[in-house]
This record gives sequence, structure tokens and C-alpha cells, in this order.
Amino acid sequence: MARKVGIYTRISRDDEGDAMGVARQRQDCEHLADLRSWQAVKVYEDNDVSAFKRNVVRDEFELMLQDLRSGLIQGIVAYDLDRLARQPRDLERLIEIYDERPRAEFATVTNDVNLAAPDGRTMARVMVAFANKSSHDASRRIKRKHLELARQGRDSGGPAPYGWCKDDRTKVDPKAAQAIRTAQQEILAGVRIGTIRTRWQEEGLGNPRAGTKRMAHHHVEHILTSPRLVGYRTYHGEILTGDDGEPVMGEWEPINTLAEWEAVCAAVAERKQQRPGQTLARKYLLSGIARCGLCKTKIRGQVNPRWKPGSKAAKYSYQCSVVNGGCGKVGRTGEPVDKLIVELVLEDQRDKAAVQDVPPEQQWPRQGELDAVQADIGRLLEAEKSRQITVSTLLQLLPDKERERDALKLERARFYKDQKQSQARAATGDLSPTEFFDLPIERQRETVLRSLSAVIIHPAGRGRRTFDPTLIDPVWR
Ligand SMILES: [Zn+2]
Repeated sequence: MARKVGIYTRISRDDEGDAMGVARQRQDCEHLADLRSWQAVKVYEDNDVSAFKRNVVRDEFELMLQDLRSGLIQGIVAYDLDRLARQPRDLERLIEIYDERPRAEFATVTNDVNLAAPDGRTMARVMVAFANKSSHDASRRIKRKHLELARQGRDSGGPAPYGWCKDDRTKVDPKAAQAIRTAQQEILAGVRIGTIRTRWQEEGLGNPRAGTKRMAHHHVEHILTSPRLVGYRTYHGEILTGDDGEPVMGEWEPINTLAEWEAVCAAVAERKQQRPGQTLARKYLLSGIARCGLCKTKIRGQVNPRWKPGSKAAKYSYQCSVVNGGCGKVGRTGEPVDKLIVELVLEDQRDKAAVQDVPPEQQWPRQGELDAVQADIGRLLEAEKSRQITVSTLLQLLPDKERERDALKLERARFYKDQKQSQARAATGDLSPTEFFDLPIERQRETVLRSLSAVIIHPAGRGRRTFDPTLIDPVWR
């Protein structure tokens, strides 16, 4: 009776070039089985799975091992050893079965090795060790190819990042781009990323995880600060520079100007530096701005535990607190204090805006110097390439120039950040109190702090029930 064998075929991405399709592998294997008078009873076909990648499970390969071990098949025919096992680990599992079953059949179309013979197994181990190395090389080649494409400014594959069209990564999605720009303006005006994240989740903006509306904080931060926004091509998170030392520009439409993007990045970085850890949102407008009129300790807002929707009780109050090191003797209902302060602040800022115009858009004055340093770097790299200077000379000269360039770039980012920030802030000059209270709390607080350094709340005296504005003392900057 004819021996029953299984045929194993696999096509990997590396095969794309040589068109060694699964169908042809299978035909050749079947032909070989016929020649040996074996009966091919089953075909195991792993499609487009690299035997080299460790974490990839080849389902059919696993099934074949099982069938061979259980005796359902009595041998294997494959195109070559490379298709069958590139990982030493896989080969060892296969060899183990052949050790246990000395009569099992084995053949490859290329006749490169015979696992059914002990010598063949030794040979196979050597071959797989080499193949494994060449796969590493192939993997490196693929990586280099990606890098090469990136250097040419070619876009990487995958789903479009937020801001660009789903069906064409090179085209800006106008609605998403507008959402990004609006959020960036908010960042410059002092709004936290967490606040934007919450708003985006409510409005269905951004790129939430599939099936949810949720986004990670760092994900939102990335959307708002990604180098892709100005058209910079990145590779593994780093901005790629070309041979001239300039960033490689991608082939897609940018969303930000360089000035806009650098300003947002600088604002985000600065905030992280200033307040590491202090990321808790303040809930009340004057928390920490208000101070006790008696002991001068900072006062925080507190929710009134007796307040319920529809009740007449105050929703929150500012209360000097012993817990925070205060005297605990001064407190005031929150809303009237906030309203009073906001009216005063908005009036003050209207007056100031009338005198002081919005700062005009200005070019950073040292751009020429930066261009010159960039050009120097480009010339140095060029000189090394054409062998006018040695690598070691290049490496002696380059670091100073690079430091100079980075310092100038940082200065440029700060310049544009300050400019964009004052533009964003000037926009609050003509708000109504209602519009003001619609702003995110950070922006409200930031607006107040531009006019006031503190608000002193004086003791109300015994039995006084009505709110007395004269006992609230704004300290003007
Ligand atoms: Zn006090």
C-alpha cells in the first residue's frame, strides 16, 4: 500500500519577487510524491506567513506536526527546507518526530536535504542556521528599504493619521484639520490636553480606538504636535534629515506652518517642565487665586454638600481652611464672587485691548543666522562625501554647528510660541461674561491671572447674609 504523505507549502513576502506561488510549489510536490509512489493525502498550506518571524504561528505547520506525530500521515513533501523551517526551533521539533519514527518519509523538490536520514538532519541544522541568518539580513534589507522610502519623503502605509483623508493620506481632511487648529489655539491659550481630550471624546473628534470614543492622553498630544503637521517625514519617531542636514519633507499636504507647529510644541513642552505631576484640573475659577483677608492663606473652592439641583443653597464656596494651614474663619458663597471678578477682569482687558493692539505677525529676526548654520552643516556633509575632508574632521566640526543650530531652533520655537500665545490671548479681550464662562476652566483662570495676581476675601462680619462686593478686593497686576 502506498505510503500516505502530507504536502507542505508556504509563500512568504520575500517570495513576491520570484513568483514562487503556492500553486506551483504544490504541483511540484505532488509530482514528486507520484515519482516516489507515495499518496499525497493532505496539503498543508500557510499563505503569506514568514517562517522567519518568531511570533507568527503557522497554523498548518502545527497541524502537520500533529498529524505526523499521530501517524495520520507517514511523511512530508515540501518544496525546499527553506519553505518548511527557517527557525531552528521549528526544525528541532520536526527532527524530534523523525527521530521517534525512523520509517517516516521525507522529500523536497529541490532535493536539498533529507530529514529521514541522520546525516540529512545534521545537514538541515546547518542549512537552517544559515537561512536564519539570511532572513535576518532580509529583514534588515526591508528595514533599510523603508528608511530609503522615508528619506525620499514617501509616506508610510497604514490608516491615515487624524487630519488627513481616510482614502488618501496625502490630502488634508478639512474638518479634522480645523479641529486640530482649534485645539492648538486652545493649548496656546493655556488649555490642558486632558480638557481637549474630553471635549474631543464628547464631539467624536480625533482618532478614537475602534468601537469606543476613548483616546489616550499621549495620543491626543501626538495628534496636536506630530511633525507630520508641518510635512516633516519621521522614521521611528525621529524627524529625518536629508544629506543637506535639512528635514526631509513628506509628499503630503501640511496642516500647520512651521511657526504654528513649533509654537504648539514649545507650549506643550514648557507646560510639562513647569508642572511635572501637577496635572489635576482645577474646578473653581478662583481656587488658589483667592486669599483669606485675615490670614492671607490661599483659599480653595469647595462644593457645598447640601446643594442639590434646583435647591436654593449655594453650589460652592470659597473657604479659608485649617487643613490648608489657614485660620478657617473666612468664607464666601462662590458664584457672586466669580461673577464680580469676571466683570472687573473683562472690563480691564477691554480697556487694555483698546490701547494695545494685537501684536502683528512677525518673522523671527534670526532666521538668516539659522539658514547660514544649516548651509554650513550641508557643506561639511558634502565635503566629507566628496572626500575633501575625512570623517574624523567632519565629526570634530559637526557637533558645534549642530549645537548652534539646535539652540537657534529652540529660540525660534520660543519666539513663535510667545507670539502665538499673545495672539490667542488677545482673542479673549471682547468676551461677554456668558462667553467667558463657556471657556474651559484653565482658560478662564488664565484670563483672570492676566489682570489679577490675587483676590482678597475679607471677613463678612457677623450675621451678614447679602453679598457685599466691597469686601472682595482684587489685587491688580
Ligand atoms: Zn484665614
